[in-house]
Amino acid sequence: MCCDLAMHLLLVEDERRLATAVRRVLEEEGHVVDMVADGADALAQARAEAYDGIVLDVMLPSLNGYEVARRLRAAGVGTPILMLTARDSIEDRVTGLDAGADDYLVKPFALAELLARVRALGRRSQTAGGEPNVLRVGNLELDLRSREAERAGKRIELTAKEFALLEALMRHPGQVLTRSQLLDLVWNYDVLTESNVVDTYIHYLRTKVDRDFEPKLIRTVRGAGYAIRVG
Ligand code: CA
Repeated sequence: MCCDLAMHLLLVEDERRLATAVRRVLEEEGHVVDMVADGADALAQARAEAYDGIVLDVMLPSLNGYEVARRLRAAGVGTPILMLTARDSIEDRVTGLDAGADDYLVKPFALAELLARVRALGRRSQTAGGEPNVLRVGNLELDLRSREAERAGKRIELTAKEFALLEALMRHPGQVLTRSQLLDLVWNYDVLTESNVVDTYIHYLRTKVDRDFEPKLIRTVRGAGYAIRVG
């Protein structure tokens, strides 16, 4: 799993030993993990920070996980939520999904299973579900509403095609996109378009997005295509 993007996660779990074990495997996977052990703290923390995902236990002090999820959704927070439930009953699942959870995992679970679900959560936060307004890779940000790009806080001027190409790459961080996929996504696959138009635009993008910044984000994968990723 070299190429999955590191996520900033909120882990909400009051069972200390479990919380510590979960945090450790998530951090080993390269994720940055904030941990709280109480429902009200979880709510405050999730509203204060823009997380890529929340791992949320159901049975918590002060506010249970269902209530936390419900209030976050009511407040317009669309961060993907993986709910940890104690029992695998249909009723529990439905309650969790109704409350706004995206996925659930029944305790006890294997840590490998948890990691797989968190990866799925990451893909969800990058694609469907709560459609993000801002795509981020490292210190590069693309605001899809204002159509603005920024790197390390500096505004970058992009043409419409450059923006579309960068958006295509940033919607699939760490994933290699072939020239024909990029042609399809950005140029709507006009058969008359020469595939070197992709290389040309990648060159323009690099000049604007990578040349004056570190680390370099746009990668050429020889014989395959292009990818955007940190490190
Ligand atoms: Ca608990």
